[in-house]
Amino acid sequence: MAVRVNPKLIDDLEYYGAQDVIKCYHCGNCSAACPFSKEPFVFPRRSMRYLQMGLEQRLKGTLEPWLCYYCGECSEECPRGAEPGETMMSMRRWLTAQYDFTGMADIFYRSWKAELLAVLIVALLTGIGLLLYGFNWGGGNLSIYDGPQAFLPSSAIHTFDWIMGGFLLVLLYFNSLRMWYFVVKEQRVPKIKLSIYIKKLYVLFLHFFTQKRYSECERKRPWILHLVLMLSYLTMLILIMFFLRQVQDGPAIDWRVHTFGYLAAIGLIVTVILAIRGRIKKTDPSHKHSHESDWMFLILLVIVSVTGVLQHVLHRVGLYAPANIMYVLHMMGVVPMLVLEVPFSKWAHLAYRTFAMYFSELEVEALKQQAKAQKTIDVARQAAQAA
Ligand code: SF4
Ligand code: SF4
Repeated sequence: MAVRVNPKLIDDLEYYGAQDVIKCYHCGNCSAACPFSKEPFVFPRRSMRYLQMGLEQRLKGTLEPWLCYYCGECSEECPRGAEPGETMMSMRRWLTAQYDFTGMADIFYRSWKAELLAVLIVALLTGIGLLLYGFNWGGGNLSIYDGPQAFLPSSAIHTFDWIMGGFLLVLLYFNSLRMWYFVVKEQRVPKIKLSIYIKKLYVLFLHFFTQKRYSECERKRPWILHLVLMLSYLTMLILIMFFLRQVQDGPAIDWRVHTFGYLAAIGLIVTVILAIRGRIKKTDPSHKHSHESDWMFLILLVIVSVTGVLQHVLHRVGLYAPANIMYVLHMMGVVPMLVLEVPFSKWAHLAYRTFAMYFSELEVEALKQQAKAQKTIDVARQAAQAA
């Protein structure tokens, strides 16, 4: 099969953060240093090669960038300063854009102005929509925070959240399906039987909830912080999707649900502060380079966390009108974060990395079964020849 070459691929990846790929002369030090690099996934040198040679289809079909956790050991060992760790990160951004059938991720990664504009438009529409609902359609009262007469009743927000959740699931479903097509269907990996898909299903849950592979990095701190951030975010999501009424009711505190909310808020705020500090100080290898999308992600998290805490406090101290206004501001951060960042930007890696772990295990298992079948054939052939 003819291999198509895209001579502009390397320039293209610059938009996604790859700056020094050209310096690589393929000594292989990076792959030797990487704690996760082992057959059949030997990286990052191979991906650097695809990129230098413009092998777009190969790059699109590789899982290797997702198997990298940006521990930075490869970049430290690179004698040419080719920054393989950052290149793998930029490939993850590029792959996110390739999987996305809407083309939005591509626009956002290429232009921070376009991303900012989209965030502002969605935030503004959310704010206007909620104010219109509160003042006119919902028949609520700005001075009432919870219950049926509330300015923004939890039942209405709940319906809105579920519509948004459905929209996200549909987008992620189609984009993940495209990922599967590129990495499994198009790459001529050994045929993966249905029984392997079922046998390895647990990998999806294991990696999603524990980020187990990340814990195998020599330095444990980035894994712990990443896990705390992810679990805090997930806890908030569960509270919003399933316990919104209990979260919003008050002013008395319902410790059965609010305890989780407080822990998640502390987790989010602490990890976001540490991430911002790390990116400013550039102490951690993974924070040495920052793409505009990294800042957008952090800024939205700060807005959502701060307004979330403030609206909760204002409600509990009985300042209902300011609490409602703060709630509108909070939603103006939440909605763009969910409808733009989750499917088209940084948050998307939660889904793609998890699927990458799954697909890589499927491939390893299929290769094992293929080798076993080949061995059986060889033994039978030898026996036939001996007879
Ligand atoms: S990225 Fe650096 S360490 Fe890796 S193969 Fe290229 S030159 Fe060698
Ligand atoms: S950043 Fe770490 S995990 Fe990623 S390729 Fe380099 S050594 Fe491997």
